[in-house]
Amino acid sequence: MTLDLFLRNAMIVHPDVGVTPGSIGVKDGRIAAVLAPGVRLDATEEVDCGGRWVMPGLVDPHVHFGFGSPETDFATETRSAALGGVTSVLSFHRSQDPREGLVAVRQRAMEQACIDVGFHFGITHRLHVDTLVEASKVFGVTSYKLYLMYKGQAGLSKGFTEIDDGLLYAAMLQTLRIPGGVLGVHCENVEVIPVLRDPLRREGRTGLGAWDDQSPDFLEAENVHRVAYFAGKTGCPVNIVHLSSREALEEVRRHRSYHKARITVETCPHYLSLTRESPCGVLAKVNPPVRSQPDVEAMWEGVLDGTVTTVGTDHVPRKRETKQEIWSSTMGFPGVATMLPVMITEGHHRRGVPIERIAAVTSANAAKVYGLKGKGQIAPGYDADLVMVDPDAERVVDAANLESFADYSPFEGMALKGWAHTTWLRGRKVVENGAITEEARRAPAGRYLARPA
Ligand SMILES: [Zn+2]
Repeated sequence: MTLDLFLRNAMIVHPDVGVTPGSIGVKDGRIAAVLAPGVRLDATEEVDCGGRWVMPGLVDPHVHFGFGSPETDFATETRSAALGGVTSVLSFHRSQDPREGLVAVRQRAMEQACIDVGFHFGITHRLHVDTLVEASKVFGVTSYKLYLMYKGQAGLSKGFTEIDDGLLYAAMLQTLRIPGGVLGVHCENVEVIPVLRDPLRREGRTGLGAWDDQSPDFLEAENVHRVAYFAGKTGCPVNIVHLSSREALEEVRRHRSYHKARITVETCPHYLSLTRESPCGVLAKVNPPVRSQPDVEAMWEGVLDGTVTTVGTDHVPRKRETKQEIWSSTMGFPGVATMLPVMITEGHHRRGVPIERIAAVTSANAAKVYGLKGKGQIAPGYDADLVMVDPDAERVVDAANLESFADYSPFEGMALKGWAHTTWLRGRKVVENGAITEEARRAPAGRYLARPA
Protein backbone atom coordinates (compact mmCIF):
# COMPACT_ATOMS: atom_id res chain seq x y z
CA MET A 1 0.00 0.00 0.00
CA THR A 2 1.29 3.44 -0.88
CA LEU A 3 0.17 6.10 1.57
CA ASP A 4 -1.04 9.50 0.45
CA LEU A 5 0.88 11.26 3.18
CA PHE A 6 3.60 10.28 5.64
CA LEU A 7 4.47 12.56 8.58
CA ARG A 8 7.78 11.51 10.08
CA ASN A 9 9.87 12.76 12.95
CA ALA A 10 6.80 14.00 14.83
CA MET A 11 6.12 14.34 18.53
CA ILE A 12 2.62 12.88 18.49
CA VAL A 13 0.24 14.34 21.08
CA HIS A 14 -2.30 11.79 22.34
CA PRO A 15 -5.02 13.55 24.37
CA ASP A 16 -4.74 12.81 28.10
CA VAL A 17 -2.17 10.06 27.38
CA GLY A 18 1.10 11.71 26.49
CA VAL A 19 3.52 12.65 23.77
CA THR A 20 5.36 9.96 21.82
CA PRO A 21 7.89 10.29 19.00
CA GLY A 22 6.89 8.61 15.76
CA SER A 23 5.27 8.83 12.35
CA ILE A 24 1.73 9.05 11.02
CA GLY A 25 0.55 7.49 7.78
CA VAL A 26 -2.52 8.85 5.98
CA LYS A 27 -4.59 7.17 3.27
CA ASP A 28 -7.89 8.34 1.75
CA GLY A 29 -8.33 11.08 4.32
CA ARG A 30 -7.95 8.81 7.33
CA ILE A 31 -5.11 7.89 9.61
CA ALA A 32 -3.87 4.52 8.37
CA ALA A 33 -0.96 3.94 10.74
CA VAL A 34 0.80 5.37 13.76
CA LEU A 35 4.37 4.11 13.78
CA ALA A 36 7.44 4.10 15.97
CA PRO A 37 10.37 6.31 14.93
CA GLY A 38 12.47 4.85 12.12
CA VAL A 39 9.74 2.78 10.48
CA ARG A 40 9.28 3.99 6.90
CA LEU A 41 6.37 3.46 4.54
CA ASP A 42 5.99 4.54 0.92
CA ALA A 43 3.93 7.65 0.43
CA THR A 44 3.05 10.08 -2.33
CA GLU A 45 4.04 12.95 -0.06
CA GLU A 46 6.37 12.92 2.88
CA VAL A 47 6.71 15.65 5.49
CA ASP A 48 9.54 15.93 7.98
CA CYS A 49 7.95 17.37 11.12
CA GLY A 50 11.36 18.21 12.56
CA GLY A 51 10.36 17.14 16.06
CA ARG A 52 7.38 19.46 16.20
CA TRP A 53 4.17 18.48 17.96
CA VAL A 54 1.44 16.92 15.85
CA MET A 55 -1.92 17.23 17.60
CA PRO A 56 -5.44 16.19 16.63
CA GLY A 57 -7.05 19.03 14.70
CA LEU A 58 -8.84 21.24 17.22
CA VAL A 59 -12.60 20.94 17.67
CA ASP A 60 -14.11 24.31 18.59
CA PRO A 61 -17.62 23.55 19.83
CA HIS A 62 -18.66 27.18 20.29
CA VAL A 63 -18.63 29.61 17.36
CA HIS A 64 -21.17 32.11 16.06
CA PHE A 65 -20.52 32.11 12.32
CA GLY A 66 -23.04 34.40 10.64
CA PHE A 67 -22.90 37.13 13.32
CA GLY A 68 -20.28 39.03 11.27
CA SER A 69 -21.21 38.91 7.60
CA PRO A 70 -23.86 36.21 7.12
CA GLU A 71 -23.10 35.93 3.39
CA THR A 72 -19.37 35.30 3.76
CA ASP A 73 -18.72 34.17 7.36
CA PHE A 74 -18.38 30.50 6.53
CA ALA A 75 -15.57 31.35 4.10
CA THR A 76 -13.65 33.86 6.21
CA GLU A 77 -14.20 32.35 9.62
CA THR A 78 -13.38 28.76 8.65
CA ARG A 79 -10.10 30.09 7.20
CA SER A 80 -9.47 31.90 10.45
CA ALA A 81 -10.20 28.65 12.29
CA ALA A 82 -7.86 26.60 10.10
CA LEU A 83 -5.07 29.12 10.77
CA GLY A 84 -5.61 28.34 14.43
CA GLY A 85 -5.33 24.60 13.86
CA VAL A 86 -9.10 24.14 14.20
CA THR A 87 -10.49 21.52 11.79
CA SER A 88 -14.05 21.17 13.16
CA VAL A 89 -16.47 23.74 14.52
CA LEU A 90 -19.99 23.61 15.88
CA SER A 91 -21.80 26.87 15.17
CA PHE A 92 -24.98 28.09 16.87
CA HIS A 93 -28.07 28.21 14.73
CA ARG A 94 -31.03 30.25 15.92
CA SER A 95 -34.14 30.71 13.80
CA GLN A 96 -37.88 30.76 14.28
CA ASP A 97 -38.14 27.16 13.05
CA PRO A 98 -34.84 25.38 12.37
CA ARG A 99 -36.61 22.77 10.26
CA GLU A 100 -36.79 25.54 7.67
CA GLY A 101 -34.14 28.00 8.85
CA LEU A 102 -31.13 25.69 8.83
CA VAL A 103 -31.52 24.48 5.22
CA ALA A 104 -30.06 27.55 3.52
CA VAL A 105 -27.45 28.13 6.23
CA ARG A 106 -26.17 24.58 5.97
CA GLN A 107 -25.95 24.86 2.19
CA ARG A 108 -24.00 28.11 2.38
CA ALA A 109 -21.67 26.56 4.93
CA MET A 110 -20.98 23.61 2.65
CA GLU A 111 -20.22 25.90 -0.29
CA GLN A 112 -17.79 28.05 1.70
CA ALA A 113 -16.21 26.11 4.56
CA CYS A 114 -12.60 24.91 4.31
CA ILE A 115 -13.01 22.87 7.53
CA ASP A 116 -15.82 20.66 8.83
CA VAL A 117 -18.89 22.40 10.24
CA GLY A 118 -21.81 21.26 12.36
CA PHE A 119 -24.49 23.09 14.31
CA HIS A 120 -26.22 23.40 17.66
CA PHE A 121 -29.83 24.55 17.85
CA GLY A 122 -30.66 27.60 19.93
CA ILE A 123 -33.79 27.05 22.04
CA THR A 124 -35.77 30.22 22.67
CA HIS A 125 -39.42 29.23 22.50
CA ARG A 126 -41.91 26.42 22.94
CA LEU A 127 -41.95 25.42 19.25
CA HIS A 128 -38.23 24.64 19.45
CA VAL A 129 -38.88 22.25 22.32
CA ASP A 130 -41.94 20.68 20.72
CA THR A 131 -40.09 20.01 17.44
CA LEU A 132 -36.71 19.15 18.95
CA VAL A 133 -36.81 15.43 18.28
CA GLU A 134 -37.92 15.90 14.68
CA ALA A 135 -35.47 18.70 13.84
CA SER A 136 -32.63 16.74 15.43
CA LYS A 137 -33.31 13.73 13.23
CA VAL A 138 -33.62 15.81 10.06
CA PHE A 139 -30.30 17.61 10.54
CA GLY A 140 -28.26 15.26 12.71
CA VAL A 141 -28.03 17.86 15.48
CA THR A 142 -27.82 16.49 19.03
CA SER A 143 -26.77 19.55 21.00
CA TYR A 144 -28.72 22.62 21.99
CA LYS A 145 -28.38 25.85 23.84
CA LEU A 146 -30.96 27.53 26.00
CA TYR A 147 -30.37 31.16 26.85
CA LEU A 148 -31.29 31.91 30.45
CA MET A 149 -29.55 35.19 29.56
CA TYR A 150 -32.67 36.20 27.60
CA LYS A 151 -35.27 35.51 30.25
CA GLY A 152 -38.09 37.98 30.88
CA GLN A 153 -37.40 41.66 30.21
CA ALA A 154 -33.94 40.89 28.82
CA GLY A 155 -35.45 38.74 26.07
CA LEU A 156 -38.06 41.24 24.90
CA SER A 157 -35.63 43.33 22.85
CA LYS A 158 -34.70 40.18 20.92
CA GLY A 159 -38.31 39.11 20.56
CA PHE A 160 -37.99 36.23 23.05
CA THR A 161 -41.00 35.97 25.32
CA GLU A 162 -41.08 32.30 26.30
CA ILE A 163 -37.76 31.72 28.07
CA ASP A 164 -38.36 30.68 31.65
CA ASP A 165 -37.59 27.78 33.99
CA GLY A 166 -40.51 25.85 32.51
CA LEU A 167 -38.93 26.02 29.06
CA LEU A 168 -35.63 24.87 30.58
CA TYR A 169 -37.26 21.90 32.28
CA ALA A 170 -39.27 20.95 29.18
CA ALA A 171 -36.12 21.17 27.03
CA MET A 172 -34.41 18.74 29.42
CA LEU A 173 -37.25 16.23 29.05
CA GLN A 174 -37.05 16.40 25.23
CA THR A 175 -33.24 16.24 25.16
CA LEU A 176 -33.47 12.99 27.12
CA ARG A 177 -35.40 11.45 24.21
CA ILE A 178 -32.55 12.09 21.75
CA PRO A 179 -29.66 9.59 21.67
CA GLY A 180 -26.48 11.46 22.57
CA GLY A 181 -28.50 14.61 23.29
CA VAL A 182 -26.91 17.30 25.44
CA LEU A 183 -28.48 20.57 26.55
CA GLY A 184 -26.15 23.56 26.78
CA VAL A 185 -27.22 26.47 28.95
CA HIS A 186 -26.03 30.05 29.13
CA CYS A 187 -25.95 30.66 32.88
CA GLU A 188 -26.40 34.22 34.14
CA ASN A 189 -29.23 35.41 36.35
CA VAL A 190 -30.38 38.20 34.10
CA GLU A 191 -33.25 39.21 36.36
CA VAL A 192 -30.84 40.57 38.98
CA ILE A 193 -28.49 42.30 36.53
CA PRO A 194 -30.52 45.58 36.21
CA VAL A 195 -30.51 46.02 39.99
CA LEU A 196 -26.72 46.11 39.91
CA ARG A 197 -26.30 47.79 36.53
CA ASP A 198 -28.48 50.87 36.93
CA PRO A 199 -26.51 52.43 39.81
CA LEU A 200 -23.22 51.70 38.02
CA ARG A 201 -24.44 53.57 34.98
CA ARG A 202 -25.69 56.46 37.11
CA GLU A 203 -22.27 56.70 38.74
CA GLY A 204 -20.69 56.92 35.29
CA ARG A 205 -18.74 53.70 35.67
CA THR A 206 -17.24 52.32 32.44
CA GLY A 207 -14.80 49.64 31.35
CA LEU A 208 -14.53 45.91 31.87
CA GLY A 209 -14.67 46.30 35.64
CA ALA A 210 -18.13 47.83 35.44
CA TRP A 211 -19.20 45.08 33.04
CA ASP A 212 -18.07 42.45 35.57
CA ASP A 213 -19.72 44.29 38.46
CA GLN A 214 -23.13 44.36 36.71
CA SER A 215 -23.13 40.56 36.34
CA PRO A 216 -20.86 39.17 39.08
CA ASP A 217 -19.75 35.57 39.53
CA PHE A 218 -22.57 34.64 41.92
CA LEU A 219 -25.23 35.39 39.30
CA GLU A 220 -23.54 32.80 37.10
CA ALA A 221 -23.15 30.32 39.97
CA GLU A 222 -26.83 30.68 40.92
CA ASN A 223 -27.90 29.74 37.39
CA VAL A 224 -25.41 26.87 37.31
CA HIS A 225 -27.00 25.59 40.49
CA ARG A 226 -30.48 25.78 38.98
CA VAL A 227 -29.44 23.93 35.81
CA ALA A 228 -27.34 21.30 37.60
CA TYR A 229 -30.10 20.72 40.15
CA PHE A 230 -32.75 20.16 37.46
CA ALA A 231 -30.26 17.92 35.63
CA GLY A 232 -30.02 15.82 38.79
CA LYS A 233 -33.80 15.52 38.93
CA THR A 234 -34.36 14.79 35.21
CA GLY A 235 -31.14 12.90 34.44
CA CYS A 236 -30.62 15.12 31.39
CA PRO A 237 -26.97 15.59 30.33
CA VAL A 238 -26.25 19.29 30.55
CA ASN A 239 -23.37 21.40 29.41
CA ILE A 240 -22.52 24.67 31.12
CA VAL A 241 -21.25 26.72 28.19
CA HIS A 242 -18.61 29.46 28.56
CA LEU A 243 -18.23 29.05 32.34
CA SER A 244 -16.21 32.00 33.65
CA SER A 245 -15.79 32.01 37.43
CA ARG A 246 -14.38 30.08 40.38
CA GLU A 247 -17.70 30.38 42.16
CA ALA A 248 -19.56 28.67 39.28
CA LEU A 249 -16.92 25.96 38.99
CA GLU A 250 -17.39 25.16 42.69
CA GLU A 251 -21.12 24.77 42.08
CA VAL A 252 -20.44 22.20 39.35
CA ARG A 253 -18.12 20.23 41.66
CA ARG A 254 -20.75 20.23 44.40
CA HIS A 255 -23.45 18.85 42.12
CA ARG A 256 -21.16 16.28 40.55
CA SER A 257 -20.39 14.98 44.04
CA TYR A 258 -23.98 14.04 44.86
CA HIS A 259 -25.84 13.13 41.67
CA LYS A 260 -25.04 11.17 38.58
CA ALA A 261 -26.51 13.27 35.76
CA ARG A 262 -23.72 14.26 33.44
CA ILE A 263 -22.63 17.87 33.81
CA THR A 264 -19.99 18.94 31.34
CA VAL A 265 -18.24 22.30 31.51
CA GLU A 266 -16.95 24.48 28.73
CA THR A 267 -14.70 27.44 29.37
CA CYS A 268 -13.13 29.80 26.84
CA PRO A 269 -9.59 30.98 26.09
CA HIS A 270 -10.50 34.45 27.37
CA TYR A 271 -11.52 33.17 30.82
CA LEU A 272 -8.13 31.44 30.90
CA SER A 273 -6.16 34.56 30.03
CA LEU A 274 -7.98 37.90 30.27
CA THR A 275 -9.23 39.82 33.30
CA ARG A 276 -11.28 42.92 33.99
CA GLU A 277 -7.95 44.79 34.13
CA SER A 278 -6.74 43.64 30.70
CA PRO A 279 -5.55 46.46 28.42
CA CYS A 280 -7.87 45.37 25.58
CA GLY A 281 -10.71 46.97 27.56
CA VAL A 282 -14.08 47.09 25.84
CA LEU A 283 -12.84 44.80 23.02
CA ALA A 284 -13.27 41.98 25.56
CA LYS A 285 -16.89 42.79 26.42
CA VAL A 286 -18.67 39.45 26.54
CA ASN A 287 -21.29 37.55 28.52
CA PRO A 288 -20.44 36.26 31.03
CA PRO A 289 -17.83 38.99 31.68
CA VAL A 290 -14.12 38.33 31.95
CA ARG A 291 -13.37 38.17 35.67
CA SER A 292 -10.35 38.61 37.97
CA GLN A 293 -6.97 36.89 38.18
CA PRO A 294 -8.06 34.36 40.87
CA ASP A 295 -10.84 33.25 38.49
CA VAL A 296 -8.31 32.77 35.67
CA GLU A 297 -6.21 30.61 37.98
CA ALA A 298 -9.31 28.67 39.06
CA MET A 299 -10.15 27.95 35.40
CA TRP A 300 -6.67 26.48 34.87
CA GLU A 301 -7.10 24.38 38.00
CA GLY A 302 -10.36 23.19 36.46
CA VAL A 303 -8.56 22.28 33.24
CA LEU A 304 -5.95 20.34 35.21
CA ASP A 305 -8.31 18.47 37.55
CA GLY A 306 -10.92 17.64 34.90
CA THR A 307 -13.69 19.93 36.13
CA VAL A 308 -13.42 21.70 32.77
CA THR A 309 -14.38 19.35 29.95
CA THR A 310 -13.89 21.43 26.84
CA VAL A 311 -12.61 24.81 25.67
CA GLY A 312 -14.60 26.71 23.04
CA THR A 313 -13.97 30.20 21.75
CA ASP A 314 -17.46 31.79 21.59
CA HIS A 315 -16.12 33.36 18.38
CA VAL A 316 -18.15 36.38 17.21
CA PRO A 317 -16.62 38.03 14.11
CA ARG A 318 -17.94 41.58 14.15
CA LYS A 319 -16.04 44.81 13.35
CA ARG A 320 -14.07 46.93 15.82
CA GLU A 321 -16.42 49.86 15.24
CA THR A 322 -19.12 47.94 17.16
CA LYS A 323 -16.89 47.91 20.27
CA GLN A 324 -16.72 51.56 21.34
CA GLU A 325 -17.84 51.97 24.94
CA ILE A 326 -18.88 49.35 27.43
CA TRP A 327 -22.63 49.88 27.80
CA SER A 328 -23.56 50.21 24.13
CA SER A 329 -21.01 48.00 22.39
CA THR A 330 -21.77 44.55 21.02
CA MET A 331 -21.14 41.34 22.93
CA GLY A 332 -18.42 38.87 22.07
CA PHE A 333 -15.29 38.97 19.91
CA PRO A 334 -13.27 36.77 17.55
CA GLY A 335 -11.12 34.00 19.06
CA VAL A 336 -11.00 30.94 16.85
CA ALA A 337 -7.57 31.76 15.35
CA THR A 338 -5.91 32.44 18.69
CA MET A 339 -7.24 29.59 20.86
CA LEU A 340 -4.26 27.28 20.34
CA PRO A 341 -1.47 29.82 20.97
CA VAL A 342 -3.37 31.22 23.99
CA MET A 343 -3.70 27.71 25.44
CA ILE A 344 -0.05 26.85 24.76
CA THR A 345 1.34 30.19 25.97
CA GLU A 346 -0.83 30.60 29.06
CA GLY A 347 -1.24 26.91 29.85
CA HIS A 348 1.84 25.03 28.75
CA HIS A 349 4.56 27.67 28.93
CA ARG A 350 3.29 29.81 31.81
CA ARG A 351 1.67 27.18 34.04
CA GLY A 352 3.21 23.88 32.99
CA VAL A 353 -0.05 22.32 31.82
CA PRO A 354 0.86 19.17 29.84
CA ILE A 355 0.16 19.50 26.11
CA GLU A 356 -1.77 16.22 26.18
CA ARG A 357 -4.21 17.83 28.63
CA ILE A 358 -4.55 20.86 26.37
CA ALA A 359 -5.23 18.47 23.47
CA ALA A 360 -7.94 16.75 25.49
CA VAL A 361 -9.89 19.94 26.25
CA THR A 362 -9.42 21.37 22.75
CA SER A 363 -10.25 18.28 20.68
CA ALA A 364 -10.86 14.81 22.13
CA ASN A 365 -13.34 15.82 24.81
CA ALA A 366 -15.48 17.92 22.47
CA ALA A 367 -15.56 15.03 19.98
CA LYS A 368 -16.83 12.78 22.80
CA VAL A 369 -19.37 15.19 24.30
CA TYR A 370 -20.87 16.05 20.90
CA GLY A 371 -20.67 12.62 19.27
CA LEU A 372 -18.27 13.60 16.49
CA LYS A 373 -17.14 10.23 15.20
CA GLY A 374 -13.64 10.06 13.75
CA LYS A 375 -12.49 13.30 15.39
CA GLY A 376 -10.20 14.14 18.27
CA GLN A 377 -7.63 11.31 18.27
CA ILE A 378 -4.50 10.33 16.37
CA ALA A 379 -5.19 6.63 15.83
CA PRO A 380 -5.88 4.35 12.85
CA GLY A 381 -9.36 4.86 11.43
CA TYR A 382 -9.74 8.44 12.65
CA ASP A 383 -9.99 11.34 10.20
CA ALA A 384 -6.57 12.72 9.33
CA ASP A 385 -7.38 16.10 10.90
CA LEU A 386 -3.97 17.11 12.16
CA VAL A 387 -2.14 20.22 13.22
CA MET A 388 1.63 20.56 13.37
CA VAL A 389 2.73 23.03 16.01
CA ASP A 390 6.06 24.53 16.87
CA PRO A 391 5.63 25.08 20.62
CA ASP A 392 8.26 27.82 20.78
CA ALA A 393 7.61 29.81 17.63
CA GLU A 394 6.46 33.24 18.79
CA ARG A 395 4.29 35.71 16.92
CA VAL A 396 2.58 38.92 17.96
CA VAL A 397 -1.17 38.81 17.42
CA ASP A 398 -2.19 41.08 14.54
CA ALA A 399 -5.82 40.88 13.43
CA ALA A 400 -4.75 41.76 9.88
CA ASN A 401 -3.19 38.28 9.57
CA LEU A 402 -6.09 36.26 10.99
CA GLU A 403 -8.33 36.00 7.87
CA SER A 404 -11.47 36.91 9.86
CA PHE A 405 -14.22 39.33 8.86
CA ALA A 406 -13.49 40.91 12.25
CA ASP A 407 -10.75 43.53 12.09
CA TYR A 408 -9.57 43.27 15.68
CA SER A 409 -8.65 40.79 18.38
CA PRO A 410 -8.75 41.23 22.16
CA PHE A 411 -5.35 39.51 22.13
CA GLU A 412 -3.76 41.91 19.60
CA GLY A 413 -0.30 43.05 20.54
CA MET A 414 0.28 39.98 22.72
CA ALA A 415 3.31 37.83 21.89
CA LEU A 416 2.03 34.24 21.79
CA LYS A 417 3.84 30.95 21.26
CA GLY A 418 2.47 27.77 19.75
CA TRP A 419 0.86 28.74 16.45
CA ALA A 420 -0.26 26.18 13.89
CA HIS A 421 2.47 25.64 11.30
CA THR A 422 0.54 23.21 9.10
CA THR A 423 -3.10 22.10 9.32
CA TRP A 424 -4.51 19.10 7.49
CA LEU A 425 -8.22 18.41 7.06
CA ARG A 426 -8.76 14.75 6.22
CA GLY A 427 -5.24 14.59 4.87
CA ARG A 428 -5.57 17.74 2.78
CA LYS A 429 -3.32 20.67 3.57
CA VAL A 430 -5.40 23.74 4.42
CA VAL A 431 -2.64 25.70 6.17
CA GLU A 432 1.07 25.62 5.33
CA ASN A 433 3.77 27.72 6.99
CA GLY A 434 1.09 29.55 8.94
CA ALA A 435 -0.88 30.62 5.84
CA ILE A 436 -4.02 29.34 4.12
CA THR A 437 -3.15 27.23 1.08
CA GLU A 438 -4.33 28.36 -2.35
CA GLU A 439 -6.15 25.07 -2.73
CA ALA A 440 -8.17 25.59 0.46
CA ARG A 441 -9.03 29.09 -0.70
CA ARG A 442 -9.99 28.05 -4.23
CA ALA A 443 -11.79 24.80 -3.48
CA PRO A 444 -12.94 24.67 0.15
CA ALA A 445 -13.87 21.08 0.99
CA GLY A 446 -15.32 21.17 4.48
CA ARG A 447 -18.00 18.63 5.23
CA TYR A 448 -21.17 18.76 7.28
CA LEU A 449 -20.87 17.19 10.71
CA ALA A 450 -24.09 15.21 11.06
CA ARG A 451 -24.53 13.23 14.21
CA PRO A 452 -26.84 10.25 14.55
CA ALA A 453 -29.98 11.43 16.36
ZN1 LIG B 1 -21.82 32.01 22.41
